Amino acid sequence: MFVDIAKIKIKAGDGGDGAVSFHREKYVASGGPDGGDGGKGGNIVFVADSNLSTLADFRYKRKYVAPNGENGKAARCTGKSAKDLVIHVPIGTIIKETETGRLIADISGKEPVIVARGGKGGWGNTHFSTSTRQTPRFSKPGMPGEEFDVTLELKLLADVGLVGFPNVGKSTLVSVVSEAKPVIANYHFTTITPNLGVVNMGEGNSFVIADIPGLIEGAWQGVGLGHQFLRHVDRCRMLVHIVDISGSEGRDPIEDFNIINNELAKFNEELSKRPMLVAGNKCDLATDEQIENFKNYVESKGYHFFPIMAAIRYDVDPLLNKIVEMLSKLPPIKQYEPDPEPVVIPDRTEKYAVKITNNDNVYFVEGEWLLKIMKSVNFDDYESMQYFQRMLITGGVIDELRRRGCGEGDSVVIYDIEFDFVE
Ligand code: GDP
Ligand code: MG
Repeated sequence: MFVDIAKIKIKAGDGGDGAVSFHREKYVASGGPDGGDGGKGGNIVFVADSNLSTLADFRYKRKYVAPNGENGKAARCTGKSAKDLVIHVPIGTIIKETETGRLIADISGKEPVIVARGGKGGWGNTHFSTSTRQTPRFSKPGMPGEEFDVTLELKLLADVGLVGFPNVGKSTLVSVVSEAKPVIANYHFTTITPNLGVVNMGEGNSFVIADIPGLIEGAWQGVGLGHQFLRHVDRCRMLVHIVDISGSEGRDPIEDFNIINNELAKFNEELSKRPMLVAGNKCDLATDEQIENFKNYVESKGYHFFPIMAAIRYDVDPLLNKIVEMLSKLPPIKQYEPDPEPVVIPDRTEKYAVKITNNDNVYFVEGEWLLKIMKSVNFDDYESMQYFQRMLITGGVIDELRRRGCGEGDSVVIYDIEFDFVE
């Protein structure tokens, strides 16, 4: 079954908690704190896998959870960091945040992409001893791993997309020009999987052709199977429109040609401007007059026309040569850039509430929105730090700390940063 869209839940691992522990040894009076840090939670990583061609696996397994980091232990033992969870997807899979539609990654290259980050481990109590606080009885919990729903969408990577009515000979053409051997049968919707084939045209001129199946009237509205496949045309650098020029199924080739073009335009206006060649197939069944008529029509619309007989690979070479010539001038396959992460602007509503706990004059601040902000702050950068401080003020965190009794010299811990409170 061909599945090219799937919704799943992902959750990166939580960081392990820091340990509270004190050094103990026989005959040694008072040991200092020796609680180790928690380990980091595993990331959720996506990687492109050329052995996969559909997202079908994601139909059955919907939730993917990376392991948590281990908690810290006594004797300054840091908990083990967890392994990443690597999810294999077909090349060309786009990952979007389901809730917002934000594009997170385009898994088209060889590099694995971290989509959800594991939480950092919390600090053990070793970190909290100072000259005035020699027995810190607290540590920090690990940071939670990122967790959200994502939508996976497969958009094939092909230079050339073949479009046309069912049964016009798209799969046949792919099979005679490339290594791919798609299913060919004489009825509609034989092709329910888009087939990719590499057309070998010699050094630097080879290209990937995709048979985009089942475009019929209403495809853009989701009628039939076509709609499902239209998204794959999206990335193609150019299109080849195949028409059954003999009208062997009682249809009119000119009408077919216009219907498909309309479908493309309705799905995405930009698609109708994509460079396109027109191939009239099944010339063996057509009269010279039929071929001439159609040729005149498409040429009057400004398209190059190629009469072919795909089944016996007759006159296919001029078409392939023209494709190579056009591709040499066209931009490369479109890669999608991730959308920027949304900026969080706190406004003191309930949504921006924080939880503050005071532990021996160390104030722990927690809040969902703070976590989000912290992801985008670079704590080594002065301006970024300033931004963070402003957020703490606008979000009411500083006021709330004061109200809770935090004063000059007390420590404030916000997840994995710690600073001294300055009035
Ligand atoms: P698709 O649905 O567009 O992928 O069409 P197919 O490639 O499955 O072909 C549909 C039918 O048309 C098959 O029976 C093919 O054998 C036939 N066909 C393909 N090319 C030609 C051709 O040049 N001449 C004739 N007469 N039949 C062809
Ligand atoms: Mg087919």
